[in-house]
Order: sequence, then C-alpha cells, then structure tokens
Amino acid sequence: MNKLTKAQGETYPLLVNCVAQKYAGLQFANPAEILAVQNRLFLQHLEYTLAHSPFYKEVYAREKIDISQIKDLSHIGQLPLTQKEDLLRSEALLCVDKKEIVDICLTSATSSATPTLIPQTSMDLSRLAYNEELAIAMTGVNETDTLLVCAALDRCFMAGMAYFFGGIKLSASMVRAGSGSAAQHWELIKLTSATVIVGVPSLIYKIGQYALTNHEDPKGCSVKKLIAIGEPTKDETLSLLPIARELEAMWGAKIYSTYASSEMATTFCECEARKGGHTRPELIVVEILGEDDQPVMPGEKGEVVVTPLGITGMPLIRFKTGDISYLIQGKCACKRTTQRLAPVLGRKNQMLKYKGTTVYPNAILAALEGDERFHGGYIEAAKNGDGTDRITLYAALTHEDESDAWIKEVLQAKLRVVPEIKRITRQDADKKVYQFDKKRKRLTFFDLR
Ligand SMILES: [Zn+2]
Repeated sequence: MNKLTKAQGETYPLLVNCVAQKYAGLQFANPAEILAVQNRLFLQHLEYTLAHSPFYKEVYAREKIDISQIKDLSHIGQLPLTQKEDLLRSEALLCVDKKEIVDICLTSATSSATPTLIPQTSMDLSRLAYNEELAIAMTGVNETDTLLVCAALDRCFMAGMAYFFGGIKLSASMVRAGSGSAAQHWELIKLTSATVIVGVPSLIYKIGQYALTNHEDPKGCSVKKLIAIGEPTKDETLSLLPIARELEAMWGAKIYSTYASSEMATTFCECEARKGGHTRPELIVVEILGEDDQPVMPGEKGEVVVTPLGITGMPLIRFKTGDISYLIQGKCACKRTTQRLAPVLGRKNQMLKYKGTTVYPNAILAALEGDERFHGGYIEAAKNGDGTDRITLYAALTHEDESDAWIKEVLQAKLRVVPEIKRITRQDADKKVYQFDKKRKRLTFFDLR
C-alpha cells in the first residue's frame, strides 16, 4: 500500500506502485526515444527534489540556480555536485514527512566514521524491487531459478533486501542465506538445489573451497550462475579477472558482474553477453567526469556521477560516487541499446601515483589473484617524504618457503608498477583480509596517507 499522499503522487506520479514496469521495453528502444524519456523523467526529478528538499533548496538558492532554465539533460552540468559528506545531512535531504518512511538503510560508510542514513518510502522500495527484478532477469535468470542470496538482509543493508525483493518480483525462489558461514551456504545449496548464487566473489570462492576440502565438487552441484556483487570480476578490457576465471572453473558456472550502491539504489548488471553493466535510463542518469569535474570524452575514464530518478524519500542530484569507470556506447550483442558501464577500476580516493603512473590497489591484487602461487594479501599506501606515494604489497604465497621473484615480473609485465613486497604468512593474510564479521567485503587496501 502506497503511503504517499495523493497530492505528492500527483506532483510526482512517476513509478507509483511500479508503473515503471512499462519502461522495461526501453532497454531495446532507439537512442532518441531513450533520451526523450530520460529528459522527461530527469526534469520531473529536478522539480520534485527542489520542491521538497531543504538541502537542495538551500544549495540552489546559495548558488543562484534557477531550475526553470534547465530545459533538458544537456544542461545538467550547470547543477552543483553532491558530495558523499553532504549525505550526513540526512534530515535536510529528506523530502517527505517522517511518517512516510518505511525503511531506513545505512550505507557501509567507507570514507566516514559516521554511517549515512538512507530513509526510504514504500514507493522507493517498489522502485528498488523493480530495479533488481530487471537486473537479475538480465542475466537470464527466471522464475524457474532458485537464488541463494549470500548478502545480509539485516543490519540495515540495502543490497540483500534489493536482491530479495527483486527475486520475489521475478517469481524466482529465494533462499535468504544472508551472511552465514561457507559451511552453512554449502549445506543450503545442497538442501535447496540452488541454481544461482548472489554474493561477493571472495565469499563464493570460500564456499567452493569448503566443498572441495570436504571432498565434494561444486562443479557437480545445482549451481549454474554466479551473480557477483561488491567486487569486480572484470578488468579494464572487460576480460575476466583471474579470480573470476577460477570461480567459473571451480563451479562450472558463468559469472555475471553487478555494480550498485545504496546511494544510487540502482543496479548495473551484465546481460548474457557480459560486455559491461547495462545502464537503466528510466532509473538513473550517469555522467563520467574528469579530475576537473567536467565531462570526459565518450569512452574515457573518470568518476561515475549519478542522479537516481524516481526516488521520493531522499532524492539526490549529481551524486559523486568516487568510483572510476567508463561508458560503452552502441548496441550490445543482446540487442539492448542502453549504454553500458565498464567495471569499476578503482576508487578515486584510492588512486596511487607511482613513478609517474596512476594505479589502483585492486589492479595490483587482480594481477596476482588466480595465480596458484599467490595465496592472497593486501596493499598498504603511505606518503614518502617528497609527497609521492609509497606502496607496499603484503603477500602470502601458497608455498610459504618459495621465492617471490615472479611477483615482480608479473606486475612489471601487467601494470609496469612494482611496489615494495613484504612477505606474510597465509594465516596473517586471511586474518587481515577476511573480516566478514565486521565488513561485507574483503579488506585489501589500507590507506595510511
Ligand atoms: Zn547486453
């Protein structure tokens, strides 16, 4: 039941009770048609947000922005950007009366000690379910599938809830495995004959490892698809990372990447062609901005800046995600015409300047992961006296007494960057990286700069 008042529904009729379903065909429309719909939804979003958001009213008044001058998306660059820190003002960002809020999410708060609140209305939850239904369906999953969701539905996380609602809307069978142990997940797969695992790649790997150490073969089980969340599975050229290749071999299943965040409440998921995550024109406007906050040339790398459309509780305009990626234009092999977002190459604030090159910590690890000689490890960054970055790779090898000379060769060949290497034991590496009791994702970068 939609709790928003009739008046608000009239000002903002978009997506009420998931009428957004009518936009599902937009994925295959011609670019002019897509742009026309997006222009209309964007202007509605702007009008709604400026009518209801104390935060944006204040910012736009201060910056003397007159939204009547914004005629379509080509003018979006005139609007101020929203920073992550701005989200700490959740009271001022709230656009509805508190009684309209039905769920309060918290973000993982990677850059701030205070978690960010994301209050959602029932319409926002409907939108979230619609978003995820289409995202999951994009991978070829349908109502005959059983999905093991290895993402927490509790602790105010949005992701687990989104997958759960989306899967239900798709009429698939949902198994709320949550943040259990590898052993619990493996038992659930056998019990429920799950065909799809939704989870962080490193966790899916642990489940497979658990099965193998117990003399069972994940390849022979019911799982046929892996939907990877939270960590990339592809490199810049859209090739599978070694860890993803290993997961496919381990499970005899295809792996699909998704990219999403609580702030954008929108999922970019790969289709069966697996050539980048399809953007969702009816749900989000995506911009790629350079260091100067100006748009980059088409296909160039930059920061992903998003304006999620159709949000009623805490709508945002031009939110800087801090993630670095690029857009892919043109029709996909799946016949969808929507732009695709390449894998996230790193976080803007994790960018390391090293001997004249730019490198992201996860690129260093990705170059080594999947090599059977490499057990695991993490990266630490510190500042040198001259202001440049000092990068240290803490590496644990599968055979702890062997030489690590090959690491330098691999990194030199793949990245042309060789950090300082410090050897650690496998036990120490695992202890530092897998803190799933505290964090949802692996911790592979420690920034001491
Ligand atoms: Zn496609």
